[in-house]
Amino acid sequence: MKKILVLEDEANIRDFVVINLRRGGYEPIEAGSGSEALEKLKVNPDICLALLDVMLPEPDIDGFEVCRRIRASGSKMGIIMLTAKSQEIDKVTGLMTGADDYVTKPFSPAELTARVDALVRRLGVDEDEKASTEIASGPFLLNTRNRTLEKNGQRLKLTQIEYLLMKLFMENPGKAMSREDILSAVWGKDFSGELKTVDVNIRRLRIKIESDPTEPEYLTTVWGYGYKWGY
Ligand code: CA
Repeated sequence: MKKILVLEDEANIRDFVVINLRRGGYEPIEAGSGSEALEKLKVNPDICLALLDVMLPEPDIDGFEVCRRIRASGSKMGIIMLTAKSQEIDKVTGLMTGADDYVTKPFSPAELTARVDALVRRLGVDEDEKASTEIASGPFLLNTRNRTLEKNGQRLKLTQIEYLLMKLFMENPGKAMSREDILSAVWGKDFSGELKTVDVNIRRLRIKIESDPTEPEYLTTVWGYGYKWGY
């Protein structure tokens, strides 16, 4: 179930939002203050969308500040600001601080869930597209839809095993991976071959991707352990 942060200081509005999100099939995470919202975000890194009330009682940080900090952390989660009717200016500023959308109070359950559903769908599409098409690293571009690899715009001819190795490494940049890990990730957990299989395929792969396979720049050796992508 998708987690949605609900930052709202007025308990009756918060309850209203929470009930309607639950009905809509979401898991609401409640916060009554800006600092509580930041706390909840920290312990729930899988929150996919935040509903942020703009006006919070002083001296607490307001919804805009929470929004700004979410974006400053690099998060691309969906953000919908909850604004009061008279606060026209809030709408503008809300979008400028990195919010995706806003809902004006009072809102109906239908309006709320429609906005939330639309944004969740949009985020989902973006994520799927990113996850299923391209991974870039240095001069390399891996396309997971047509299973191809380019180096400086030139297509490299890879076997399926080599492709899977590249995908594994490029998805885990800088992470040292043991031969066992590589074997089970690429050949499957039930594969009973030798660990040497990994070395043989890496050697072949290096010939294709490295400028000098004897001095690998990208697919480097972690002595006595395995391999990693990068330094
Ligand atoms: Ca409020």
